[in-house]
Amino acid sequence: MSDTPKSLSRRPEWPTSVSRPVATPLQPTVVYSSPDPSSLDQQYADGSGFTYAREGHPNATVLAQKIDMLEGVTGGIVNGSGMAAVSAVFLGILKAGDHVIGADQLYGRTLRMMTQDLPRFGVETTLADPTDAASFEAAIKPNTRMMVVEVVSNPTIRIADMEGIAKIANERGILLVVDNTFTTPRSYLPFENGADIVLHSVTKLLAGHADATLGYVVAKDPELMEQIYIANTTFGFTASPFDCWLAERGLQTFDLRYDRAEATAIELAAALADVKGVKRVIHPSRADHPDHNRGLQILGDRPGNMLSFEVEGGRAAADALTRAAPELPFAPTLGDVGTTLSHPASSSHRALTPEARADLGMSEGFFRVSVGLEEPKLLIEEISNAIAESQKA
Ligand SMILES: *Cc1c(COP(=O)(O)O)cnc(C)c1O
Repeated sequence: MSDTPKSLSRRPEWPTSVSRPVATPLQPTVVYSSPDPSSLDQQYADGSGFTYAREGHPNATVLAQKIDMLEGVTGGIVNGSGMAAVSAVFLGILKAGDHVIGADQLYGRTLRMMTQDLPRFGVETTLADPTDAASFEAAIKPNTRMMVVEVVSNPTIRIADMEGIAKIANERGILLVVDNTFTTPRSYLPFENGADIVLHSVTKLLAGHADATLGYVVAKDPELMEQIYIANTTFGFTASPFDCWLAERGLQTFDLRYDRAEATAIELAAALADVKGVKRVIHPSRADHPDHNRGLQILGDRPGNMLSFEVEGGRAAADALTRAAPELPFAPTLGDVGTTLSHPASSSHRALTPEARADLGMSEGFFRVSVGLEEPKLLIEEISNAIAESQKA
């Protein structure tokens, strides 16, 4: 075997071109070389370039800037997952002895962090009902540093009293953190409504194709943002350039996808309410939604693409329903181009006792639908037929 020619391990000059690529280039490099130590010094001093991918890279910057634009801010960063965004906020800002109030129906892993992980680090936490701002107020202690809220709860689709909670947080100087994953900036703009920090699971609607796992976080205050950025790079929550590239590509059609999926969700919610065997349909567009008026006030005419429904019958009906719709992925995620169906009792909320689930209105016949981009008529038929089958079980 001949020796590897030395030249193969040397990188040639990148071909230069007067014309520029139209599509965003993918830049997977881990490190960047500098002409000499003084220019590297200069770069660290003024933040004028990239040095090492964990600290930042062009595909992350391009993606973050696009999401900044949607949220109406500057300075956001992307993270390796939505949970990395949550972690960067907690690890960057909180210290032992602080107290955090969180909504009692936060995303499962965020809830776990509140109840199990933050307490391990000496951070006190209290859960409160986000549909009742008074319960957040009642939970305040002298050391309360932060409130964490999702605008629309999963999978019960309840709408938080954002106005009431923001007023209390702002008046008391408590940081308001809003996870805007379900609502997206198309339905709700947290910074126009008193939020201090906004985060996303970009994995879901923003990237939108179920092929990239990413988060995003931004704080209005540059000092807080710096603390979050430092936690992100120190704890290693960096996003992969390829995932950022995919998400940036997906984001180009985000507004079209969201509008279409939302319009279909409104139609589907209306249609399912008339299907035999359906006990209730939960979507903010419906007048019988428990927070319908608050929804109008907070989301306006943008009720989103997430809905839930409950059918008669127990697990047997649930099994029959999913089996009767084999082309609808039965999968615990949301925001894909295709509609997905999830069954909280066997997935996201399986750790709860049946009684605790019942308290949340989540029976064995409870399903959550993330509405995608299918032809509305076909989707309505498919789900209605599956419900009809479930009622024979
Ligand atoms: C999925 C999700 C997360 C976590 O995001 P990952 O990208 O899966 O880590 C956080 N909050 C909400 C509301 C989510 O739906």
